[in-house]
Amino acid sequence: MPQRSLKEYKAKRNFAKTPEPSGQKAKTKRQKSRMFCVQKHLASHLHYDFRLEHNGTLVSWAVPKGPSLNPKDKRLAMRVEDHPIDYGDFEGVIPEGYGAGIVVLWDDGTWYPEPGFEDVDAALQKGELKFHLEGVKLKGSWVLVRTGGRYGRTDAQGESRTWLLIKHRDEWAGAIDVLKVAPKSVKSFGDFEDILAQDKPDVWESHMPAKGGATGKMLQEIIAKAAALKAKGTTKKSAKKPRKAATAKRRKATSKA
Ligand code: MN
Repeated sequence: MPQRSLKEYKAKRNFAKTPEPSGQKAKTKRQKSRMFCVQKHLASHLHYDFRLEHNGTLVSWAVPKGPSLNPKDKRLAMRVEDHPIDYGDFEGVIPEGYGAGIVVLWDDGTWYPEPGFEDVDAALQKGELKFHLEGVKLKGSWVLVRTGGRYGRTDAQGESRTWLLIKHRDEWAGAIDVLKVAPKSVKSFGDFEDILAQDKPDVWESHMPAKGGATGKMLQEIIAKAAALKAKGTTKKSAKKPRKAATAKRRKATSKA
């Protein structure tokens, strides 16, 4: 798969803004199709960032256990700050600051709200959003529902940040552990260690103050795997650390989660 660029995302956005054609099928698609992504993020803790494009931004939840295809699983999803659309295809290294660590683009595709939930702002405010995913790994009908705030964390409006991500029963539901069966990137087809082993992994500059980053045993294991991959010669010899300056592809963000 060719590496997707900002250009392509901008093209998609522009595409969505073009005047509606007369064809009903195209009209429906352009009105309802927007991107979603799931980024596997090894920061201070491993989690999966679930993001839905809405109104020019990525509405985001951090899902510690990741999404499940089993409708019996109610996965905790902490609402976090919206992210810029341009972050939606990012995978690589966040060298410092909030969210410092490694990001794998675990899934992406398009989504649309299900009937009765077309007013996404109202649904988010009400605390229930039923939606359909057309991803590589995640498909079909899902719901995000806000709960009572198990950890007492609220947003600026005093609403709970605690949501649950649940798969609805349909042909795409099942007991399979999709996180284990399909752990790798939909962009590079690698995992954390493959990204670290790249000569020049993409680097995302965070401008948030440091709140702790990837630490501990898991990161050490991944670095060891990356070193082993390099030693095997599966990647070209070069810098061991991601380059932060002009040699690395730089992106900017105001926040990271
Ligand atoms: Mn995150």
